[in-house]
Amino acid sequence: MLRTHTCGELRIGDVNKQVTLTGWVQRLRDKGSLLWIDLRDRYGITQLFLEEGKTDALLLQTARQLGREFVVKVDGIAVERLSKNDKMPTGDIEIKISSLEIVNASKTPPFTIEDNTDGGDELRMKYRYLDLRRNPVRESLQLRHKMAQQTRIYLDSLDFIEVETPVLIKSTPEGARDFVVPSRMNPGEFYALPQSPQTFKQLLMVSGFDRYYQLVKCFRDEDLRADRQPEFTQIDCEMAFITQEDILSTFEGLIRHLFKNVKGIDMPTVPHLSYADAMKYYGSDKPDTRFEMKFVELNEVVKGKAFPVFDNAAIVLGICAKGCASFTRKQLDELTEFVRKPQIGATGLIYARCEANGKLKSSVDKFFDEEALSKWTLKFNAQPGDLILILAGPTEKTQKALGELRLHIANQLGLRDKNKFSALWVIDFPLLEWNEETKRFHAMHHPFTSPKLDDLQLLDSDPGKVRANAYDMVINGTEVGGGSIRIHDRPTQQLMFTKLGFSEEEAKKQFGFLMDAFEFGAPPHGGIAFGFDRLCSLFGGADSIRDFIAFPKNNSGRDLMIDTPSTISQEQLNELNIIVKN
Ligand code: ASP
Repeated sequence: MLRTHTCGELRIGDVNKQVTLTGWVQRLRDKGSLLWIDLRDRYGITQLFLEEGKTDALLLQTARQLGREFVVKVDGIAVERLSKNDKMPTGDIEIKISSLEIVNASKTPPFTIEDNTDGGDELRMKYRYLDLRRNPVRESLQLRHKMAQQTRIYLDSLDFIEVETPVLIKSTPEGARDFVVPSRMNPGEFYALPQSPQTFKQLLMVSGFDRYYQLVKCFRDEDLRADRQPEFTQIDCEMAFITQEDILSTFEGLIRHLFKNVKGIDMPTVPHLSYADAMKYYGSDKPDTRFEMKFVELNEVVKGKAFPVFDNAAIVLGICAKGCASFTRKQLDELTEFVRKPQIGATGLIYARCEANGKLKSSVDKFFDEEALSKWTLKFNAQPGDLILILAGPTEKTQKALGELRLHIANQLGLRDKNKFSALWVIDFPLLEWNEETKRFHAMHHPFTSPKLDDLQLLDSDPGKVRANAYDMVINGTEVGGGSIRIHDRPTQQLMFTKLGFSEEEAKKQFGFLMDAFEFGAPPHGGIAFGFDRLCSLFGGADSIRDFIAFPKNNSGRDLMIDTPSTISQEQLNELNIIVKN
């Protein structure tokens, strides 16, 4: 070894030890007679010092040539510090150095290697290997490592087998675009990179593997947002001979195991909420339940009072913001502006303050007298100091808009604390979703999801009403995982493809292998996949998944460091039979 200790290791008990350390120069402080060097590695920082007159002159001269991020190797003796630093684990000691070797010089880094760096996103990505030297980024990846390890420990303990599925496959429809790879040996033909190993894990159930998991890279060619990457990792799982309840309890167990073993948090049992109730009470299929502020429907107490906005609306819905009666006119105008934004889409906002005497003062007092308003108070259980906010309009649109307003207010009130965690299962998702653009139904989860038997009779008459055996795990308003109980027989799977607009021919061409497999004794099965990067960022209290991925891509899907995507040579193109249009 080139060192006797790491830079995070030495303590007061090591005083007088002869040591050799290696690492990067974090900082140099030259006080003339005394010179200090902070030496850093993954484990921490140790302070080195040299003293004019006491240290060899040549050694001092070498030390004075050091710059930030030089790699050095030093020999020396650990001594007790005169002024200790209780903020550093090694702060009781320092190393009086007797020899110093510059192992490798460094250019001045383009940004500071500190917890709060001066580097912008693009620069940090271009020099990702330097960014990874910074504590917060390295700690995020260490958290990821721990999450992966604990995931394996938990699933192994339940007899899950990790199986690697292929990366060069045929497209699986998960609702996004595929990345494709041309086949040189089969001109004009392409592989697709998996959007998930969905069909393979189902085939493993047919094979009798019974319990499968994989920490697996998936690829989706979508427009990117802060929490999306074209390649991402899933904890992908499948189980045979189970009910939906078995899946929910097994994977609630995984999440609780992770909270316990990675964060030391005892998670309460995870409540179940139907998709219909999630929409009804939160206007979202991924409600943030760190705080209440549930929707209250007002139709029965507001209709017929000659207020056209309410009378003409399919639904009148409100929330009660605790303690917000003191909001100023300006703040209320800002909220009105917020709900009127095109992406929110409400036409206006009605409000009522609950005053000290418990009575409501509303923006529509003209239409509602004291008695009428007292019914609102009851509905919301409003207390003095509360603010009631009401939207009216078409049901779905109003629910969604109020859902956004609920989150907006919660952000303003600091109710979305990153160190607080609230998980829930959203269950009973609709099987199908109408797509306005294509004018047909799409599978809400994916086409392998089984419908609820009770709803099967609606498949022809009212397909949008059919519920699926599908579930999502939501934590703090983020969907961290989702899955379903699968179809495991050919006729139902064929019926599903037909409903989704596939001709028998197309279904056979794309998924014949799966339907064939279903004819050889397929067990009932189901599964789930967790977005691993997102789960890690949630555990790390971050908004973006980027720092939980060692080498992420930017919002245009580029890796700025290796500079890709990039063109390939004409020779490669010829080999692949690809003609690039300019
Ligand atoms: N393959 C699904 C997904 O990636 C998860 C599942 O159904 O297990 O969302």
